[in-house]
Amino acid sequence: MREQLELLIQLQDIDNQLLELRQERGNLPETVERLRAEIEETTQILDTRREEQLGAGKERRRIENEVELAKVSLKKYQDQLFKVTTNREYDAISSEIETARTTVQSGETRIIELLGREEELTGQITQLETHLDKIKGDFEVRDAELQEKIAETSDLETGLTIHRGKIVEQLARPIYAHYERIHIAKEDGMGVARVYTGACGGCFAAIPPQKLMEIAAMEDFILCETCGRILVDAESLEVR
Ligand SMILES: [Zn+2]
Repeated sequence: MREQLELLIQLQDIDNQLLELRQERGNLPETVERLRAEIEETTQILDTRREEQLGAGKERRRIENEVELAKVSLKKYQDQLFKVTTNREYDAISSEIETARTTVQSGETRIIELLGREEELTGQITQLETHLDKIKGDFEVRDAELQEKIAETSDLETGLTIHRGKIVEQLARPIYAHYERIHIAKEDGMGVARVYTGACGGCFAAIPPQKLMEIAAMEDFILCETCGRILVDAESLEVR
């Protein structure tokens, strides 16, 4: 049991160093991730707007052509109207004129709508482009900072992680599982607490004298009744 407790003390020490490394990086990893997601989202919206703008322009030019053709026909039919000799011819040409007029009118209305939409989209696209440039700039700065921090600490982190793995292999499963549960649940990451002037070093709850003796002997796996941390003797903690 002493050996297991000593391994736990080493494990806690490694986890403290790993926690310190992560704290040095602060919220940079989250900031970089958030910016990356925002760039992706903005790019998608921008693509959609650009596609819609292309479509609107295409439709507008097609209708402009139709309107031009209809105007030419209208002129042609209006000239013919003066030269007709029968009622049947007159009715037929009048009907053609009506159709051409409708095409011109509805076409012109649609052209105005499309021009409005295109203008609106141009404004949105400009805004999105400016925003995208800004967040891309932010991303580059933050990501470079993060990469630098990672480069500075990655050898140390790798070394600690390998060492941690070796310790975990030697720990009994239930002991490691208990440590890990407390380690993850507690904000300070302390699964192991040293006893300090008769109290748990994690939650400061007093420990009965009988238990203090058992802890000092390091022959048993003893938990703090208040916080669940694994209790070890303060002096043993320094011995490594
Ligand atoms: Zn405690």
